[in-house]
Amino acid sequence: MKHMRIILLFAFIFVCGWLPAQVSQDAANQSASGSRHWVLVVHGGAGGPAKGNMKPEREKQYTDSISRALGIGSGILASGGSSLDAVEAVIRFMEDCPLFNAGKGAVLDEDGKAELDASIMDGKTGKAGAVGGVTIIKNPITAARAVMDKTDHVMLIGPGADAFARTHGLEIADPSYFITPERYEAWKAAKQKTRTEQPAPSSEEKEKKGTVGCVALDVNGNLAAGTSTGGMMMKMSGRVGDSPIIGAGTWADKNCAVSCTGHGEFFIRNCAAYNVAVQMLYAGKPLAEAAHFVIFDLLKAKGGEGGLIAVDKDGNIAMPFSSNAMFRGTVSARALPLVSIY
Ligand code: ASP
Repeated sequence: MKHMRIILLFAFIFVCGWLPAQVSQDAANQSASGSRHWVLVVHGGAGGPAKGNMKPEREKQYTDSISRALGIGSGILASGGSSLDAVEAVIRFMEDCPLFNAGKGAVLDEDGKAELDASIMDGKTGKAGAVGGVTIIKNPITAARAVMDKTDHVMLIGPGADAFARTHGLEIADPSYFITPERYEAWKAAKQKTRTEQPAPSSEEKEKKGTVGCVALDVNGNLAAGTSTGGMMMKMSGRVGDSPIIGAGTWADKNCAVSCTGHGEFFIRNCAAYNVAVQMLYAGKPLAEAAHFVIFDLLKAKGGEGGLIAVDKDGNIAMPFSSNAMFRGTVSARALPLVSIY
């Protein structure tokens, strides 16, 4: 009888206390994230030819790949997965796709090598990871995440980063895996131009964009961002751009998540990704205004071309770019997938 009373007492406490507490916690999560709202934004790089100058079949290849990336990320977010997992999975897919300047299909440096950069940031914890100048890691974004999750550091570079990936069992690829025939031809032509002392490659040829990035808001209201790239075509060996630099190419906190693409040196000098967060936090700008300010008033005004994708804690999206085009796509719990180039 005494035992029975104790059991009843516990049952009473459970029903009156713990259960409502859980329900109200869930409700809080739901209202904070806008009725279990989630948002995914992807970019496949700023730059590329002006509208009308790309073959329709080529455009379709890009838009189909961005749609598939959106499908992968939305599958994770719609089933309650984290923004961090969605960002990593989307970028892995884009790194494996030879169309984009990241992973397989990366542009080549002046020596004809692919040197890859990537970073990822978790807005919930403020933790970040990055790799720079890696040459044998099949998915640099996963290496960036491993740096974040498994070390006390933020960035590993070159041979040390490659060795770290090997010892942590990440997939390793021969350096030739990253070089597609198309990128090799483009590199050969650019090299020829410099050898025959023709005018140096134009900035459009030199920059050949296609960097990939992803930002996401999950149903628990957490934000994450990631960026991965081969950098800029014919870059000096050892050059590292903005993509793996936290605050320049990638940023995520509790207010917004940002991934940039464009002429990296300008993005580094202007702390572009973090500057979006700063404009919101200290200047009180809404996301779209903050993102526009960074791309046009800060970067374009100084000659730095490019774009960014961003999402805030309320699920607002911004995707400004000053280049001819930026491959991009969005999808959310409340909106169907949308893919655009120009
Ligand atoms: N931002 C990259 C870099 O400078 C290139 C790009 O986004 O296309 O390395």
